[in-house]
Amino acid sequence: KGEEKATVNLNAESSGAERTARIAEVERKSVVQTYTRQPILLVRGSGARVWDASGREYIDFVAGVAVNNVGHCHASVVEAIRQQAKELIHTSNLYYTENQVLLAEELKALTGMDRAFFCNSGAESVEAALKLARKATGRSKIVAAIHSFHGRTLGSLGATYKPMYREPFRPLQEADFVPFDDPEALAAAVSTETSAVILEPVQGEGGVHVPKPRYLRAAREICDDCGALFILDEVQTGFGRTGKWFGKEHSGVMPDAMTLAKGIAGGLPMGAMLAAESVSDVFKRGDHASTFGGGPLVSAAALASIGAIREERLVERSEEMGRYLRSRLSEEIDAIDVRGLGLMVGVELAANCPEIVNRARERGVLLNATSDHVLRMVPPLVVGRGEIDRVVKVLGEIQREP
Ligand code: PMP
Repeated sequence: KGEEKATVNLNAESSGAERTARIAEVERKSVVQTYTRQPILLVRGSGARVWDASGREYIDFVAGVAVNNVGHCHASVVEAIRQQAKELIHTSNLYYTENQVLLAEELKALTGMDRAFFCNSGAESVEAALKLARKATGRSKIVAAIHSFHGRTLGSLGATYKPMYREPFRPLQEADFVPFDDPEALAAAVSTETSAVILEPVQGEGGVHVPKPRYLRAAREICDDCGALFILDEVQTGFGRTGKWFGKEHSGVMPDAMTLAKGIAGGLPMGAMLAAESVSDVFKRGDHASTFGGGPLVSAAALASIGAIREERLVERSEEMGRYLRSRLSEEIDAIDVRGLGLMVGVELAANCPEIVNRARERGVLLNATSDHVLRMVPPLVVGRGEIDRVVKVLGEIQREP
């Protein structure tokens, strides 16, 4: 027993490598093993960089998976959290709180939507939208796209494409899955039994797929024709990621409901479901709720993060740096395809991408592979040309290695 205790004394002084090894060993027995973790222990972040327990610096092209849009530990987000934490961290949605209302007003102004419901994650925002669609239409069928990702809770999982994610958890209410960016296939699948069509403006987890602008406009019309709700899942595409405030702006459509999370609150967990007035009112008191949703601390962080995106012109920067990244990749990398919008970039390679992720990490670059052949790059929007150059150089070196 004594010996066992010694191995879990995680605070004992030791080198970074020892700490990492010890944490990895204890994690296996203390945390449910649903993640494949890379062998580094991250302890600090600033801008587009993070540091591990050995003091090694990495350029972060994962950004908490498209979360840290304003960069790690942005000063004004940290300050807003510090100030709010001294006043009130949490209370209940039984009471009014000012930050939640200010944030709802801010999101309305940014998106043109009419009402906000606050929750704590992307999957929860999708749950809220699917529930709203059921109540608004009195129907239950959902149409989603092949290679979609909308979350892993029992409701959202039914709209997530990867069969491997869904199969162990049946019965689920599963969507009809149609090819993405194909208006005809969508029109054929949607009927007067459809409660909602749910689409990502740019597919993220599925490998960064950008549809033609007319696709989302066609989807809007198809939904109108059948009386189905049109839900845009902007969990990954929101808050400047694609070079616009929201992905829907690339095609100029307005959904009935819109889901947000990831980049909303500077790294704190938050989700939001925005709805048009025409459907939001079907939710009556008691129809939906969240203990933590829209709490004062996370809402303060979201207001500060949105303020930083605006003041530092990070939406424009995402567009500019995204162009630069894609052009540098096209010049320097032997790729099958380089695609994306803003700083949501996919690089399709003939090579084994998980292996490239490992080699890049050893050279101080954090990358993510959405499959064996696609690298996804979603750096903080504050990323600079020098950092982009470094990442492209490292990738080129890896490609030229035996
Ligand atoms: N929708 C989309 C488009 C996403 O990319 C994700 C997360 N990758 C989710 C929903 C689920 O978000 P969360 O992990 O916060 O539940």
